[in-house]
Amino acid sequence: MSTTTKGFHMTIGGALAPTEQTFGVIDPATGAVFAEAPTCTPAQLDAAMDAAKGAFPAWSRDEAARRAALEACADAIEANTEALARTLTMEQGKPLAKAEGEAKGAAHWFREVARMEIPHDVLRDDESARVEVRRRPLGVVGSIVPWNFPVFLAGVKTAPALLMGNTVVLKPSPFTPLATLELGEMLQAVLPPGVFNVVSGGDDLGAAITHHPAVRMLCFTGSVATGKKVAAAAAPDLKRFVLELGGNDPAIVLEDADPEAIAEKLFWSAFGNTGQVCIAAKRVYAHESVYHPLVEAMAEVARRVRVGPGIEPETQLGPLNNAPQFQRVDELVEDAKRAGAKVVTGGEPLGRPGYFYPPTILTDVAEGVRLVDEEQFGPALPVMPFRDVDEALERANATHFGLMGSVWTQDLDRGAEVAARLEVGTARVNRHGGVDPRVPFGGAKWSGIGYQFGRWGLETYSELQVIELNRT
Ligand code: NAD
Repeated sequence: MSTTTKGFHMTIGGALAPTEQTFGVIDPATGAVFAEAPTCTPAQLDAAMDAAKGAFPAWSRDEAARRAALEACADAIEANTEALARTLTMEQGKPLAKAEGEAKGAAHWFREVARMEIPHDVLRDDESARVEVRRRPLGVVGSIVPWNFPVFLAGVKTAPALLMGNTVVLKPSPFTPLATLELGEMLQAVLPPGVFNVVSGGDDLGAAITHHPAVRMLCFTGSVATGKKVAAAAAPDLKRFVLELGGNDPAIVLEDADPEAIAEKLFWSAFGNTGQVCIAAKRVYAHESVYHPLVEAMAEVARRVRVGPGIEPETQLGPLNNAPQFQRVDELVEDAKRAGAKVVTGGEPLGRPGYFYPPTILTDVAEGVRLVDEEQFGPALPVMPFRDVDEALERANATHFGLMGSVWTQDLDRGAEVAARLEVGTARVNRHGGVDPRVPFGGAKWSGIGYQFGRWGLETYSELQVIELNRT
């Protein structure tokens, strides 16, 4: 893809901010810079925070206006899905159809959230007193997003924060700032100035947001290592925070599962978005009686999949997003090979420009090897046999991560029993990935703190207030 001359702008206080300095954004399908994004100056970050703080009082007072504005955000995104998707594919690498799905997902989230009930409980209402629990917004929310689903994650963080009456300053990843900048620009037509600000820059800008005195809450999605820095930065000012961090999700295939029937679904649970999904299946434990047929059936799918530039219509898996991630996946696979792993499919880079790595299935690998113990966040999947389910659960749970897990079986009752023993925020039977605006989502252990989505997510973006009326 060639260099674009299109200008991308930050949105601060309802207007496009002047760009003084820029940084290059790389097309992962070529490895070459194709566009420039603005670098937010310290003064511009202050201006974004002032704008968000200034917009807060009026915005937080009018719930009906907020609901209408969120519906209008959904309409605006839907009307611009194609343009957003094109930019997203260019900077992130994913197939165009998936990029369109991502933009539509963000619109869907705005619409669903616009119609959600704000939590409000009456604990007591009798002749002597009425006690209610209400929810108050926090103020300015600083949101920091990674590069795997930039537009979707911007949507899922922003919609509930706004519904609850907060205002937002959002920073996308330096690897994928462009579609989010476009999102910021397009939503100004339907939101009051200062309610939603988008700034771009490097990791240092993220750190500056976490330390900024105007911010009352930090909403972070990214790696465990950065999440710990965010929590530490929040502490001195007691900023509230929610952390959605990495995972190393286990999928446990029981002896009664039909390998042929589940292979395709399990494959896409692991390799969708080229494995760059927090809730991808990252370790498969298969009962020894179904292990070999399952490996073969998944390998069949891997061999059929079209890997290529996201912009080509027949592509099913795009490149990895960036050079460090590409090198990391290569390094983890090489390390596993040195430890004796057998490569069933893939196993080395495609040897063309860009960050292309094919779907790689490995066997003869176990705990103690980095590919199993760490989050690979890419298209390399270890598939390991087990003899009894207690052993599988022990191995699945022997990790600091605890995001999602799945159990694959024809016996739903047994599946539910095994799933409940997984030390994860979400445990599923016969399905792995995917999220729902009505269902809470969060990580156990090092995979996160706090919850998003549904009533629980709205509570996250607010603080509780008790209102007590005494009649006597
Ligand atoms: P990352 O932690 O490197 O970066 C995430 C964001 O944090 C980027 O915008 C980055 O610029 C910013 N940042 C970097 N240093 C910072 C600092 N000191 N203070 C504040 N912000 C800082 O993560 P990544 O490589 O972009 O994303 C991949 C990770 O995200 C994976 O671990 C993946 O599992 C995780 N993830 C989790 C979820 C979830 O919902 N649990 C969803 C998507 C991705």
